[in-house]
Amino acid sequence: MKPMGPLPPEFAGQSGPLTIAGVAATDWAADTPVFVYDAAIVAARVARFRAAFAGIDLHYAIKANPLPALLERVAPLVDGLDVASGGELELALAVKPATAISFAGPGKRDGELIGAIRAGATLNVESEGEAERALRLGDELGVAPRLAVRVNPDVELRGSGMKMGGRPSPFGVDAVRAAALVRRIVAGGADWRGFHIYAGSQALDAGAIIDTQAATLALAERLADEAGHRPPLVNLGGGFGIPYFAGDVPLDIERVGTALTAAVADSALTAAGTGYAIELGRWLVGEAGVYLTRIVDRKESQGETFLVTDGGLNHQLAASGNFGTVVRRNYPLALARDVGGTPIEAVSVVGPLCTPLDRLGDRIGLPHADPGDLIAVFLAGAYGATASPAGFLGHPPAREVVAG
Ligand SMILES: *Cc1c(COP(=O)(O)O)cnc(C)c1O
Repeated sequence: MKPMGPLPPEFAGQSGPLTIAGVAATDWAADTPVFVYDAAIVAARVARFRAAFAGIDLHYAIKANPLPALLERVAPLVDGLDVASGGELELALAVKPATAISFAGPGKRDGELIGAIRAGATLNVESEGEAERALRLGDELGVAPRLAVRVNPDVELRGSGMKMGGRPSPFGVDAVRAAALVRRIVAGGADWRGFHIYAGSQALDAGAIIDTQAATLALAERLADEAGHRPPLVNLGGGFGIPYFAGDVPLDIERVGTALTAAVADSALTAAGTGYAIELGRWLVGEAGVYLTRIVDRKESQGETFLVTDGGLNHQLAASGNFGTVVRRNYPLALARDVGGTPIEAVSVVGPLCTPLDRLGDRIGLPHADPGDLIAVFLAGAYGATASPAGFLGHPPAREVVAG
């Protein structure tokens, strides 16, 4: 048997039939496959962040999970929403005032820039060219655009799953050119909102995040000096990871919070009135989601037992190991009618797609399972439904429901 990642704390303590938000998984799964998101788990993560990061704004990066019914629940709990397309901007504007929305991402089309400028959302500009287009479009609309400068930092987030700094990048302008861009934006009549500095994603090492945040803060101070303008807001990025795989240890966010609140208190920018934000996606919503899929067939081949389910990588690409991981490892899975039950056999859980990539669990240990039983795939709240190739092979999309 190969190991699986740890169940999120809200589920790790359960035994017997799985419940989500107090309701039996079988009740959620009248139709499968289905994603169930427990809003109370998201609220608990927000509360934990608030307790650890006094005085730091919390933004939700909605690409992690843009389901409107979930956004409605999350929006009132956070200070801002970060979007990365015109489509996400529309979703965010439905639940949050434009002044609490920032729009990052390379290759923003003119129509997207116009939408953000008209609405009054902040554009995190990714290049000098994009800044010029935003200034020109703002002139044409007779609106001073709200522009922040995304900086490609000269630091990277050590140990992060996806590095976004310290190298050539399509994201942001290189730190050496950022101050000049700030001056240009201010001279061009824009409402300069500050810096956006994002150094990586999926980090579990508190020490690495603390070092990166300190370097990010120092960079923001240096750039503000160089530009001769004080940033209203420094968006320090995020990068908080969750444990997906065996051996992963949860991030000690309280340690990060203690270090960041101390560093911010010491900063000259803070004394002059700068505010700070952290933007999080997966840490807020990843553990809140469970993907439930039903076993359609059980078969043996050359000594290996396969449980074939009605959903797979078409809905939950990340669990199949094909979304940003180099080595395939097992997400936490369970037999929904017997969570924590004694594993008596090694089985591979595969989806219905006609490709060997469609494997949700590779030789994992489970209690005996038969067709009709439900398999729960945990950590399905972030980068699940919308980050998977739902159209591939023409199976129906998964349902998504918000619980709690
Ligand atoms: C994707 C993204 C995030 C969220 O990343 P998570 O790993 O889900 O926390 C935050 N900020 C930016 C700019 C992003 O592109």
